[in-house]
Amino acid sequence: MGTPVYDMNKGITDWSELESIKLKKLQKQLRRVYDQSPFHKARFDAAGFRPEMMKSLSDLKHLPFMDKNQERESQAESQAAGITALGDHIVCDPRDVVRISSTSGTTGMPTFTGYTQADSEVTAEIMRRAMPMMGAERGDVVMHAFVMSMWIAGLPVADIMQMAGFTVVPIGGMSGPGRFAITAQSVFPKQLNCTPSYATWMANKLREDFNIDPASFGIKRILLGGEPGGSIPEVREKISGLWGGAEIYDGIGAMHSSFFASFTCRHNTGLHWLADDYVHLEILDPATGASLPLEDGVTGEGVYTALEKECAPAIRFRSGDRFVIKRGRCACGRDTIRYSIEGRVDDMLLVRGVNVFPAAIQAVIGRFADRGVGSNIRIVLTSKPPVQEPPLPVKVELAAELSAEATAALAAELSDAVSKELRFRCQVSLLPKGTLDAFQADKNQKQQIFEREYDQ
Ligand SMILES: [Zn+2]
Repeated sequence: MGTPVYDMNKGITDWSELESIKLKKLQKQLRRVYDQSPFHKARFDAAGFRPEMMKSLSDLKHLPFMDKNQERESQAESQAAGITALGDHIVCDPRDVVRISSTSGTTGMPTFTGYTQADSEVTAEIMRRAMPMMGAERGDVVMHAFVMSMWIAGLPVADIMQMAGFTVVPIGGMSGPGRFAITAQSVFPKQLNCTPSYATWMANKLREDFNIDPASFGIKRILLGGEPGGSIPEVREKISGLWGGAEIYDGIGAMHSSFFASFTCRHNTGLHWLADDYVHLEILDPATGASLPLEDGVTGEGVYTALEKECAPAIRFRSGDRFVIKRGRCACGRDTIRYSIEGRVDDMLLVRGVNVFPAAIQAVIGRFADRGVGSNIRIVLTSKPPVQEPPLPVKVELAAELSAEATAALAAELSDAVSKELRFRCQVSLLPKGTLDAFQADKNQKQQIFEREYDQ
């Protein structure tokens, strides 16, 4: 494991050597998927592409994209034929698959992902790279408080943490605050893994129902994942405050490539892409479908190609996430590609020709946190997205109690700030604290951003 071009403290040490390592891996990977998967062979043939045409990384542009719908169809076919859950884009020997996990299925039928032992090793290596970035060491006790199901953040990530060298306490996401408190008081945890909404909910519950200050557990850092929020400064600050000043980190994966691919460091300068020698990242211009250069400020959809994944590798797999790229050496000393995810490509709304992303609205509203404005918002859709008529209604929850007069004035100020900064008309209404349910008790604890008020 490991590679000569990645240094644990400096990141990528030789970018041109990295290119040639990636090209060699990619040539091998494309040959393998072409020879072994009817799904990929048909796609390559239709595009007039043969593996031997892969002479430089930019030749990847000749290959078609893959997305969730194709994956779903491929799996439906192989399931109907009684062969495998994993689709005919599977490449390895099915007997080498040691784990099958599933997506949450919030956007349709769940899809299944298989991993071989070597696939898990790749993620564990990336986790090891993240450990010094978070000040973590071998043997640090981690309370893993994601729902312990086959959801990737659950059991699969708990296993990866263990392989990377942590001492894992799989408390899960369904234990109540009483059980959580007894465990935390007994195991001397250094780290907590959970979703942002769970971290907030649990801290409040411990205080309100048990009169326990979560700071008393001595948790030094919280690794957030599973939903957006871990990179938003206001969310991080709030959670850190609730947990006695714990450092907050965000970690995310790359679909069908690695459970984890990127983490923030303590400087919170964006997610550090730690998977460069295992996953090829492209940024896709949503308008033209062209692959954009990975330069500072470039924005588009993240697309993954897994260079080593054995089971069912991503080959130009569209993430649906909107990336904003950052370049340059970080204050932590690492030279890696950095990025932030600013919403889903599908979440984009069009208001009188202006592209509107929910994350951008959240960012503007977040700046009013010290004025008693909460971070919980709902965008009300009055017609089928993406096209919406202005003014766009946005409900925002208050974090403090304000007079009716002060509330009206603040709502007008917020509407004005969003409208001016994002260049579309927006109508903010402020609601009392607790009106919008922060902790959506669905199985994956995901926050809702849209409220649909049209006939579907
Ligand atoms: Zn850094």
